[in-house]
Amino acid sequence: MFSKKTVRDIDLKGKRVLVRVDFNVPIKDGKVTDDTRIRAALPTIEYLLGQNAAVILFSHLGRPKGGPDPKYSMKPVADYLAGLVKAPVKFAEEAAGPKAKAAADALKPGEILVLENTRFYPGEEKNDPALAEQFAQLADVYVMDAFGSAHRAHASTEGVTRYLPAVAGFLMEKEIQYLGQAIANPARPFVAILGGAKISDKIGVIKNLLAKADAILIGGGMANTFFKAQGYPMGDSLVENEVLELARELLGSGGTKIRLPVDLVIATGTEEGAEVKVIPVGPVPDGWKALDIGPETVANFSRVIKDAKTVVWNGPMGLFETPRFAEGTFGIAKALAESGATTIVGGGDSAAAIQQSGLADKITHISTGGGASLEMLEGITLPGVAALQDK
Ligand code: ADP
Ligand code: MG
Repeated sequence: MFSKKTVRDIDLKGKRVLVRVDFNVPIKDGKVTDDTRIRAALPTIEYLLGQNAAVILFSHLGRPKGGPDPKYSMKPVADYLAGLVKAPVKFAEEAAGPKAKAAADALKPGEILVLENTRFYPGEEKNDPALAEQFAQLADVYVMDAFGSAHRAHASTEGVTRYLPAVAGFLMEKEIQYLGQAIANPARPFVAILGGAKISDKIGVIKNLLAKADAILIGGGMANTFFKAQGYPMGDSLVENEVLELARELLGSGGTKIRLPVDLVIATGTEEGAEVKVIPVGPVPDGWKALDIGPETVANFSRVIKDAKTVVWNGPMGLFETPRFAEGTFGIAKALAESGATTIVGGGDSAAAIQQSGLADKITHISTGGGASLEMLEGITLPGVAALQDK
């Protein structure tokens, strides 16, 4: 099924292992504020330590402008990791160059070294071979475990694999297994739920899922554009007028697969005193905007989800960041949690919404990658996966 070699498939005992992790975590006042991504890398890190490997971790963090910037230093991440593992955690002020090399050479089996931010080097995003080779010189083996960065062919995710034996870590394997299986060979009925702000962000995803899924349930801002395409005025709702023609085409080719909401939560604004009401689908008055799916729609969608064997969800059903417009999203989260299907959630905001719903532990798989999970749902092979050794 997963056709790439993993850390299980090669000898790592006593080796220096360079692991690309996704430690692109939020940091405030020098402190990590959400450690989800760090914890997601622990199974691979612990396994490597168990193999008595010397573990060198590197990642990008934020968007520094191709040079060192203390605001984006990995040092707080290294400090945080030190509190999660028993092994000693060292830090190098470089990701490539003499200091990084010296720190890697001095590292002993069973120890961890965290390198500085890969994006402090302009060659990282350009996938510069010279930088990739410098990364490779630090170790004997490369492990890719940064699913959230695997859709980018950068020096640390793709270039480096030309210079070292390259295999997948456990997080990578798990992500590809769930998302890949859902797309390639889903247990049916296969139901996709799509929402979020815009159609234009997700044209490839909609088209691919239209071909693969048995039903597509659409909510969120995306639904507004479909309604506008059907001829309803949508008031002040978020609508993409540039893609109305495309929306009509998708509705035409989607036939009966596409299910749109039957009712909407509309409001005069998002602020405290704003008026809010539920209306059946139809014209939205001027001065009002559609900000969530209504209770009828939640009930309808939940029935479809109940009969599914595989459910993939990307994109919140409404403006879930505001509690009054989160009920649709949380209602769908509940339907997933109660379903016996394999349930997979992809997308940065969707993952955040599931966490907020308190039902995350009832979901089969919540992807750690926003953009990467969307590309998987589009059916695109990720460059950071393609570059790994085949089994
Ligand atoms: P993901 O990150 O999971 O792929 P998106 O980024 O596509 O999801 O969309 C998430 C955003 O869409 C959220 O910020 C949410 O508030 C917004 N959104 C959803 N429905 C609406 C709506 N009806 N009007 C305005 N914004 C919406
Ligand atoms: Mg998003």
